[in-house]
Amino acid sequence: MLPGIVGSLQANEALKLIAGYGEPLVGRLLTFDAQSTTFSEVKARRDPSCPACGEGAAIPEPGIDDAATPGSDGERDERDLAQAVGA
Ligand SMILES: [Zn+2]
Repeated sequence: MLPGIVGSLQANEALKLIAGYGEPLVGRLLTFDAQSTTFSEVKARRDPSCPACGEGAAIPEPGIDDAATPGSDGERDERDLAQAVGA
């Protein structure tokens, strides 16, 4: 049960990032207590030395790599989104 609940939440977050829609879970940590069926949220601070979110981060932000998409003008548009989701 728990992997299904968490997996669905993660899939929803991925769709929000791909579509550039909604309020993604960025800068916040969501916790789920399956025993009491409660969610809680904690603000997450950036670590300046973190390779993903720190100063001079080496890991790029999640999203579509527009520059690497053949035929892309580098801007995200509906065509890029359709390609990303296989439509
Ligand atoms: Zn980080």
